[in-house]
Amino acid sequence: MEQLTVQETQAMLIFVADNLIEAKEMLCEIDGKIGDGDHGFGIARGFNAVKETLNSNTYATVNNVFKDIGMSMLRSMGGASGVIFSSMFLGAGTLPDLAKLNTESLTSILREGLKKVKAQGKAKMGDKTMVDAYEPAVIALEQSQDSTLETALKSAVLAAEDGVRKTKEYPAKHGRAKFLYDRSIGIEDAGATTVSLIFKAMYNYLST
Ligand code: ADP
Ligand code: MG
Ligand code: MG
Repeated sequence: MEQLTVQETQAMLIFVADNLIEAKEMLCEIDGKIGDGDHGFGIARGFNAVKETLNSNTYATVNNVFKDIGMSMLRSMGGASGVIFSSMFLGAGTLPDLAKLNTESLTSILREGLKKVKAQGKAKMGDKTMVDAYEPAVIALEQSQDSTLETALKSAVLAAEDGVRKTKEYPAKHGRAKFLYDRSIGIEDAGATTVSLIFKAMYNYLST
């Protein structure tokens, strides 16, 4: 599939929401090792709200689908992580109207999202946060501009998963895990795992 219509984009993101809701316990378990064990609850609450919104609305542009996802997450999740994860999707609001989702438009949406995440959370690569999976995934998309959406997403998934593995090597500098600092070495970051699952779900939707 070269590009998705607005409706197909909406269907893909409902599939993403289902996948993240299913990962609730796994994400809590990872967060429980160095955080407070609630990451999966927040993410599941956010994506349940996303599903409800996407199932009861129709959209004129791809931007509006992503913006509504971000707003649903922000409203339902609350707290610092609600601001961080909703920002991934809210970046779409700064772009001109997009009629189709293809490699180019997904890249621009997620690049804007990354800017927003970094502006809000001030985390850089290597700080053991979701940025460690998100930034490499965006770079992989940027380097895949001649590829189909499916192929571009495949490289983004691999980059995100590699980023998750690398978070094991870093001490935490943000969030609750920073209080454990060195003790957080050897354990992956929960939020980075969430990002890799979001990319993986998009890829799986397109490849099956
Ligand atoms: P909380 O830490 O409030 O319990 P969650 O458990 O839902 O929230 O989310 C924790 C995740 O949020 C971390 O694993 C990390 O990936 C991400 N995170 C925390 N602080 C930041 C930040 N400043 N920038 C980017 N991501 C962050
Ligand atoms: Mg937590
Ligand atoms: Mg918490």
